[in-house]
Amino acid sequence: MRLSYHKLKIPLISPFTTSFGTDVNKDVYVFTLEHNGITAYSESVTDENPFYGSEDNYTVIHIVQKYLAQIVKDLPEPQEFNKKTMFIKGNNMAKASMEMLLYDYHAKVKEKPLAEYMGKSRGYANVGISLGMDDINVTLKKIQDALNRGYKRIKVKIMKGKETQILGAVRDQFPDITLSADANSDYTEKDFQLIKKIDRYDLIYLEQPLYHDDIIYHSRLAKEISTPLCLDESITSPEKAQKAFEMEACSVINIKEGRLGGIGNSIKVMDIVKNFKGHVWIGGMLETGIGRSFNVSMASLSDIDYPGDTSPNDKYFTHDIVKNPFTMENGTIKPNMGYGIGVEISEEYLKKYTVEEGFIV
Ligand SMILES: [Mg+2]
Repeated sequence: MRLSYHKLKIPLISPFTTSFGTDVNKDVYVFTLEHNGITAYSESVTDENPFYGSEDNYTVIHIVQKYLAQIVKDLPEPQEFNKKTMFIKGNNMAKASMEMLLYDYHAKVKEKPLAEYMGKSRGYANVGISLGMDDINVTLKKIQDALNRGYKRIKVKIMKGKETQILGAVRDQFPDITLSADANSDYTEKDFQLIKKIDRYDLIYLEQPLYHDDIIYHSRLAKEISTPLCLDESITSPEKAQKAFEMEACSVINIKEGRLGGIGNSIKVMDIVKNFKGHVWIGGMLETGIGRSFNVSMASLSDIDYPGDTSPNDKYFTHDIVKNPFTMENGTIKPNMGYGIGVEISEEYLKKYTVEEGFIV
């Protein structure tokens, strides 16, 4: 058994701006597990800064090298891995990077596509697009392009003070589209009056307006606005999903496997949402074709009912590190049907973008 990593720096086609800041490169760790002729892959959804969550690339490689690699070495089934790593608090993205590696490995051992190994797949995923903040005319043009390409939901990033400007311009030009907005925690409990203005734009949901780890204020806000709330950053475990629904803090959840500690916990959250008759979709973190293949497989599960942020990567990267990137047809993407995540790695671009590599165990 050999576990190794490549740290990559992949240039983005255009800078991606959220309320956290602007990215011009994607800095990502790709992990490789080789055993008995099988090669499995995963990536960490962290980047260089702990701005989305509390982890970054440096904490991930530390946790993987110091703790997780010793557990991965025995090639446990993913559920077993989750139990064995419970003694490590937090560090969900580090755990997810190894748990997903084991998902790919075991699906390959059992000669099954990942979607089939995970559960009941409908065979395709509905796709939406997430647009970073930009000059409003650029955003409007990007929305028109996205609609022309068949995307089933448009999501725009907003920030405090710019919400009516952005959403007003979008709704003026596109009165009938399925639209949502992501505030990435840019508001506080003092901004409810301001947030209420968003109700007039008929969003399918407003995503994570308040603090990144909050449920209580979201629960208060949900009672004051008519727009459904979607939680992203706050839902870091199945328990938090359960509490959020019990408190009616949201009716929609954006699942990101990395944030939840892997696929096992993501499936648990999916089941909780179903139990509360909520809605659920799969988010994205500017993944390469490796991470995207996990997402698309997950988004194809029949209990995922809203379009996800699992668009083809050619929107973000000039070149992906996989030879078989996804293509979208009529707003849908089909999961890879090869064994495991079913990606073919492009050695050329993997090498080109690698800034550091090494063996872990
Ligand atoms: Mg979000």
